[in-house]
Amino acid sequence: MARTRKPVVEVRRSQRRRRTVSAYRDGERVVVLIPDQFTRAEEIEWVDKMLARLAAREQRARRTDAELLRRAHLLIGRYLDEHAAEAEPHSVRWVRNQNGRWGSCTPADRTIRISHRIQEMPDWVVDYVLLHELVHLVVSSHNDRFWELVGRYPKAERARGFLEGVSAATGMILAE
Ligand SMILES: [Zn+2]
Repeated sequence: MARTRKPVVEVRRSQRRRRTVSAYRDGERVVVLIPDQFTRAEEIEWVDKMLARLAAREQRARRTDAELLRRAHLLIGRYLDEHAAEAEPHSVRWVRNQNGRWGSCTPADRTIRISHRIQEMPDWVVDYVLLHELVHLVVSSHNDRFWELVGRYPKAERARGFLEGVSAATGMILAE
């Protein structure tokens, strides 16, 4: 998560701006547009705030359906190689209507849905939820064979613990 490479920031003051602040990336630089009347302290405060917002926006943008499918293929190659054909999903999508589940899968049409609630979680947790659903394309129930396949993922236990912690705090249930 820690991507603390500080970008070069260029602050541009505008007399036409009253209160609005905006920021965008221009190559290696980040341009922050602020009202001309801002004090030096306000400038510092808003540059920090806009850098954080920009980073969050860029992180969310990385979590697209296409990115999910790319990760699914990586996980299949790494952990489900001999089941590659069975584990191949028809589609993997981020969804908002998950009724309190982290992920779900419909083996009949081979579709996988992942809750937008995990979009901001660490990659290794997203990968666990994704792998869990991919394994369901191979083994539908939570039997020993299922957990054996899921257990090939080295951080499976840790991710389950992480999600249980979040569940306890938010009332979400695990994607079981
Ligand atoms: Zn499950």
